[in-house]
Amino acid sequence: MNTIDCQSHTIVNAHCKDIDSILIVEDSLMLQTRIQEEISGQLNIKCDVASSEKEAKELLEKNSYSLFIVDIHLPDSDGDFVLYLIRKKLSIIVVTGSSNEEQRKLFVSLPIVDYLYKTDERSILNYLINRIKRLQKNKEAIVLLSDDSRLSRLQVTNLLKTQNLAYVEVENGKEAYDCVINQQSDIDLLITDINMPVMSGMELITKVRHDYDSLSMPILAYSAADKSSTIAQLIKTGANDFISKPINNEEFLTRLNNTLELSYLFKRNQELINKLNRAATTDFLTSLYNRNHFYQSIKHVQSQSKRTNKLYGVIMMDIDHFKNFNDNYGHEFGDTVLKEIANIIKNSSRDSDIPYRWGGEEFIVLVLNTSIGELARFAQRIRKNVEKAKIDSEDKVLSVNVTISCGVAIANASNIDNVDNTINLADQRLYTAKENGRNQVVYQ
Ligand code: GH3
Ligand code: MG
Ligand code: MG
Repeated sequence: MNTIDCQSHTIVNAHCKDIDSILIVEDSLMLQTRIQEEISGQLNIKCDVASSEKEAKELLEKNSYSLFIVDIHLPDSDGDFVLYLIRKKLSIIVVTGSSNEEQRKLFVSLPIVDYLYKTDERSILNYLINRIKRLQKNKEAIVLLSDDSRLSRLQVTNLLKTQNLAYVEVENGKEAYDCVINQQSDIDLLITDINMPVMSGMELITKVRHDYDSLSMPILAYSAADKSSTIAQLIKTGANDFISKPINNEEFLTRLNNTLELSYLFKRNQELINKLNRAATTDFLTSLYNRNHFYQSIKHVQSQSKRTNKLYGVIMMDIDHFKNFNDNYGHEFGDTVLKEIANIIKNSSRDSDIPYRWGGEEFIVLVLNTSIGELARFAQRIRKNVEKAKIDSEDKVLSVNVTISCGVAIANASNIDNVDNTINLADQRLYTAKENGRNQVVYQ
């Protein structure tokens, strides 16, 4: 579960739960079976079925369920069973085949997850699956609710509870803004009243939008003001959607879900971007960063170097006679060696040293705030650690030693921005190390 610190405000999340067991109460055997198959098949959730209130109550005596999908009209119940479950504060999706307006009004005014008309089978199944997935996702989300009226907050928080959402309550725009600024990444949605003391909803939305766009921080606004010009102004200022007071539960939940969807899509996009970024900057075999990452991070290292007047340096390493190794032992064992050497380099480095697979059997370590003497000692340490390591083949039949040669260079103080000069110098020194007999460090 997420954590958030909005000064004295706490997250209310005791009601949030895993959706891991469902009871379907439906007298149509065909629909009952289809819903059960679909939920257990697609979502892998334990799902019991009952055809009447009596059967459902018998199951309830023996088991507990995190969600109920209940047909209002059962052979032995006409809505009473739904009311019975509501009194027990259980989560219910109500399903009905009739379009009785009075009944609809009654049920949507009660704390239920949703109210669903029976249409065609496919639509019902799709809707239910999406609804359950959403309840599962909601468990990880936090809503920030800003309203000075305790009564309005109570109505909204009761609705949020039905949706398995955690929330934080604040009483004005200033408190809400402080929360957003302090811990934005944990807030998935901001719901705000418009007329509030200290800082109004309009001002809050304006300020939040200076820092966050409508995807990274969706906002749902509500107010007793129902002038269309006010509503248009709110949306132009940055609210994603608007609801008039008094709040209609069904409308509120529909708009809440649509707005939350934006937040989830945004998060999913961010995750995908991060994943792609990781894949583009990480070497698949050794899990070290690759050359791409080196050139991305060097700019930051260079500006830090200029700011602190401390130099960065590189150690360039190349495995000795690796072509022979592959020829003698096979490419697969060669890969094992590359992975092992990557580990040795990583384990020999401090947190601030960044090791890279430069390509083929070449590695580089980028070292910050260093001197040529320190770099040379560091390179010797890595070289010795490689030399003494026994590397086993996957099947443990073979155990070998390999060596590396190293060229070391430090950035030119008068030309810090030219990292290629430094790399070329390290490369020349690596070449000298090879010429001089390999398994050694050259640093001048
Ligand atoms: P030197 O001591 O002069 O560096 O000799 P060397 O044989 O290591 O150098 P050379 O550049 O001739 O050969 C490099 C070898 O590294 C050839 C290539 O097959 C091997 N190599 C490069 N990348 C990989 C890899 O991902 N896996 C394996 N198994 N071998 C690789
Ligand atoms: Mg080599
Ligand atoms: Mg090479």
